[in-house]
Amino acid sequence: MPLSNAQYDEILREYNAKQIRNQHFTEERKKEVYAKDPRLKELDDALSSCCVAHARKLLNGDKTAMESLRGKIAQYADKHTNILEELGYSSDYFTPKYDCPDCQDTGTIDGKPCHCFKQRAIDLVYTQSNLRNILQEENFDTFSYKYYSEIEINPATGLSSLETMQNAVKECHRFIDEFDCHFSNLFLYGDVGVGKTFLSNCVAKELLDTGHSVIYFTAFQLFDIFEKNTFHHKTDEDITLAHRNIFECDLLIIDDLGTEMPNSFTISQFFLCLNERILRRKSTIISTNLAISQLAEIYSERTFSRISSNYVMLKLFGDDIRIQKKIN
Ligand SMILES: [Zn+2]
Repeated sequence: MPLSNAQYDEILREYNAKQIRNQHFTEERKKEVYAKDPRLKELDDALSSCCVAHARKLLNGDKTAMESLRGKIAQYADKHTNILEELGYSSDYFTPKYDCPDCQDTGTIDGKPCHCFKQRAIDLVYTQSNLRNILQEENFDTFSYKYYSEIEINPATGLSSLETMQNAVKECHRFIDEFDCHFSNLFLYGDVGVGKTFLSNCVAKELLDTGHSVIYFTAFQLFDIFEKNTFHHKTDEDITLAHRNIFECDLLIIDDLGTEMPNSFTISQFFLCLNERILRRKSTIISTNLAISQLAEIYSERTFSRISSNYVMLKLFGDDIRIQKKIN
């Protein structure tokens, strides 16, 4: 779904407000320090006049003006830093603070949308804003192995619940570390409450923090979007356009596959979605309580084949963490 004009305007207003807020913040800091030591204000004023004078020289064809201006700026900067440090401030105390240093809160880099703009658009279109609140709670800093037993062994692998989870966490870190250079997908499966959603949230947080676009859906929400959008779009090309963000975001998370109510139409859309993302080399994480053997049965052989040949399959096992949390 693309942004509507109203949504686009809303985002631009937010960027504008952000710029004004951060400018104001810097001005307040200047006022505070100028009040303590008027030498800084005098220095800043002198620098402004010096820039104007040199600009005039440049316009008049003085080719040495640029070089001499650089020298002056360096001198002012040194004096500035010395006074700030004398007063107990860091040398970057006057440097503007940006929510996104990459685009300096303009929303664009070289005329193209910045990653922060893309993610804001996704948040708005797919009402993902609650994801950020969840990620404050569920991330690698809050992750704990205490719910995974050393004694309980999976007979199929010979690994304990704890070892299985340690391997899965290691795999998730590899996925994150290689995200920009190695195309990979994760398929997390296992019983209810073994930490699949928590783990995919940990990955989502790391990738959002490094400027990647992430869309999170429960399978129910994703299939609902397929269902709603498709009646208006006839060809695969139209559908691809309508679902562009879903096909193109850096990471798509499909949580709880198997809890939706699929029909032949949404199943074919699901295949199209996974296939498009593989073609575009965009990563996907799927989590499910279903057994692998049920995948082909419910979602068709071709979907199963795409998943089994393109996803790292991670089976988690253990006791239901939600129940353990209630007991303890
Ligand atoms: Zn940005």
